Amino acid sequence: MWEYAPAPESRDIANLKPNYRMFSDGQFVEGTGEPLKTVNPATEEVLAEVSTASTADVDKAVKAARRAYDRVWSKMPGTERAKYIYRIARLIQERSRELAVLESLDNGKPIKESRDVDVPTAAAHFFYHAGWADKLSYAGYGPDPRPLGVAGQVIPWNFPLLMAAWKIAPALACGNTVVLKPAETTPLTALVLAEIIQQADLPPGVVNIIPGAGDVGASLVEHPDVNKVAFTGSTDVGKIIQRELAGTRKKLTLELGGKAANVVFDDAPLDQAVEGIVNGIFFNQGHVCCAGSRLLVQESVADELLEKLRVRVSTLRVGDPLDKNTDVGAINSREQLTKIQELVESGEGEGASRWTSSCPLPDKGFFFAPTVFSNVSQAMRIAREEIFGPVLSVLTFRTPDEAVAKANNTPYGLSAGVWTEKGSRILWMAQRMRAGVVWSNTFNRFDPTAPFGGYQESGFGREGGRTGLEAYLDV
Ligand code: NAP
Ligand code: MG
Repeated sequence: MWEYAPAPESRDIANLKPNYRMFSDGQFVEGTGEPLKTVNPATEEVLAEVSTASTADVDKAVKAARRAYDRVWSKMPGTERAKYIYRIARLIQERSRELAVLESLDNGKPIKESRDVDVPTAAAHFFYHAGWADKLSYAGYGPDPRPLGVAGQVIPWNFPLLMAAWKIAPALACGNTVVLKPAETTPLTALVLAEIIQQADLPPGVVNIIPGAGDVGASLVEHPDVNKVAFTGSTDVGKIIQRELAGTRKKLTLELGGKAANVVFDDAPLDQAVEGIVNGIFFNQGHVCCAGSRLLVQESVADELLEKLRVRVSTLRVGDPLDKNTDVGAINSREQLTKIQELVESGEGEGASRWTSSCPLPDKGFFFAPTVFSNVSQAMRIAREEIFGPVLSVLTFRTPDEAVAKANNTPYGLSAGVWTEKGSRILWMAQRMRAGVVWSNTFNRFDPTAPFGGYQESGFGREGGRTGLEAYLDV
């Protein structure tokens, strides 16, 4: 084992303020809801107090978005909208260190991930969509596709800034205005994004960011003057929203949970596959909707692969998210930690074999050591339910048909992985696995040009790419 000296990033870079206000109609204003305290999950200390929106504030924000839509944004030529969106992208880059440190403080994810994935990918989404703003007539949706109006957007806590970018960038590019609700436990980077939007001089009301709990999300999606709802979160809440919107004229996209199969064939380069498996499930503490949480290994290489995997996972460093050497950071909340613990206990109870890395854990904060379950059967809860934590369930198969059957034996269908030397087998598998994204010989790769979204209970609609524009256009 290598010894590493601590290499902490300075938290001063985050410019943390004691209070944050909501962003409505171009101004930072005190919300009239009960203020919330956001916590650093690595230390359990309160980071800041954040004002939240009441139902009246939701209404004000939607009205501001409507005015901005009617008077300015829907009438502005795409070439002009593009300039604003480019400016947002550039400002995210300029303030990238601040955003990365703040994201790691508020969410608990390792700084190397917020720095190298979340923030640059968020900027990339604005750059990419800025490019579409004046080219929508070439997107394949008719000669003059129209925006929808006011978009109400609700996002989860696992990629707080990145999910905001996924939602806001295409909405603006297509000429819509936005009211966005960040997750209760991670509101801070969305509010810095609001500062950036103000810095970029967007007309007031084009983007409004209103923190709060689930009830604020509910009153936003129910608001009668919202034309489009975009939700990323759990399947349970997605179902509530879909029922709520049935019979209305609101357009809806849902990006929900997942239980992805990562399938390793016996001809795969095993060392490379191990890296992909680790990335697939331990990236972002496994708080990833498309995490490769079910490993399907061909039986003939299962023992060898599992041995290599345990050796590799033992080297993962769990701890301070701000340390540049940290591989696995903090679990986002006590509630989520309890959920992970409960599912892990069910795995042991149902007879799977548990292996947990013996890495040291910090005394404070919410942490969970990387865990691998073998001898998992398809009926077990750890094979069926989303754990949303650093826990991998390993199953085996003998034939490609069996691999497909097991991969598809889930109510979800967001992503999948295939590891094999044979190109023809990759295509054969990709055509048969019901998943919105199939990675081959890699995992968890994100790019704004590639549409992302699910099948079945993972939701519907796509984000990213040309296809993703459809969600924000009247086609
Ligand atoms: P969640 O409970 O569904 O929360 C998601 C968001 O919805 C939060 O902002 C939440 O507010 C809000 N919300 C809660 N109840 C609501 C309601 N009745 N109406 C409107 N909004 C409501 O999900 P989570 O547990 O925070 O996030 C994890 C889930 O998100 C996982 O299942 C994961 O797979 C999924 N996810 C999917 C994708 C994807 O692209 N498919 C990406 C990331 C995450 P609060 O913050 O106050 O709870
Ligand atoms: Mg927090």
